[in-house]
Amino acid sequence: MALLEFNKNGIYCAQADVYIDPWKPVKRALITHGHSDHARWGSDYYLCTRSAKPVIRYRLGPINIETVDYGESRVINGVRFSFHPAGHIVGSAQIRVEYQGEIWVASGDYKLEDDGLAEAFDPISCHAFITECTFGLPIYKWPKQEEVFADINAWWAQNKAEGKVTVLTGYALGKAQRLMHGLDTSIGPIFTHGAVENVNEILRAQGVILPPSIRLAQDTKKGQLEGAIIIVPPSAADSPMVRRFSPISLGLASGWMALRSARRRRNADRGFILSDHGDWDELNRAVAATGAERIVATHGYTEQFSQWLREQGYDASAEKTEFDGEIFEEENDNK
Ligand SMILES: [Zn+2]
Ligand SMILES: [Zn+2]
Repeated sequence: MALLEFNKNGIYCAQADVYIDPWKPVKRALITHGHSDHARWGSDYYLCTRSAKPVIRYRLGPINIETVDYGESRVINGVRFSFHPAGHIVGSAQIRVEYQGEIWVASGDYKLEDDGLAEAFDPISCHAFITECTFGLPIYKWPKQEEVFADINAWWAQNKAEGKVTVLTGYALGKAQRLMHGLDTSIGPIFTHGAVENVNEILRAQGVILPPSIRLAQDTKKGQLEGAIIIVPPSAADSPMVRRFSPISLGLASGWMALRSARRRRNADRGFILSDHGDWDELNRAVAATGAERIVATHGYTEQFSQWLREQGYDASAEKTEFDGEIFEEENDNK
């Protein structure tokens, strides 16, 4: 029996009777990060990193949750578990599992580029690596974030000059804060959708430094938004709340913007390629850095990526999960 296996509830460690990011309620859940496809409601007990807890607690309500620091171990029935930075969002972790000398790592979601907010990705040596592969095709190649932010800021300044309000979409947890972090606040004020500002408040309370932002309210007047940028979840991009400030210029920030068809599908003026998941090159570098021989590819292009890895000599396979990857069409958000 493998140390970690996939069953109908999630990624399971039978020896310790715990799950990693279970999609069904279980007795004990180890959670890589607070995105709602990974941190689901209904389990009896949760364990996550200290910096992931506030958002998970906010999203899941009153749950039985404990925390560990990065690198700290918990031993459950002889199995040693520890959490290591995944670079995806604040608090996100890869989970290392060790039993009788055998080491597995479940990546959760990750990226290698240090965004200055999430704890930077830390490669962990292991025998078997369970990797996400949301963007596991060679066509996905991210520009450097500095270039993307220079483009975003230039677009914002241009909109301001043309008397338009700038609207930029990003998930309420993760992408929105990363966007804010990269904005040039000398251009104008940052307004935020309530779902974004709720997360901002939680992160600021735990010491994450974000630029100042103003919560968009029902009675926010158009005059207040002169030269402003509004950060909204993707689901709110077309909402009356945003449209009432027209003329607006709408921008989307997502890894999917690498696909021309995805840009066209939405009613957007600009698409910026910015993802909190690794691109093709990052996935390959992450796999190589683990030194693992056995690779299990989950959410994303699992068949293509695992076949590519087999061609490179890895013992690679694909497993189905109920993780969503980076959703483009809908905000996957509880609140
Ligand atoms: Zn995620
Ligand atoms: Zn995910």
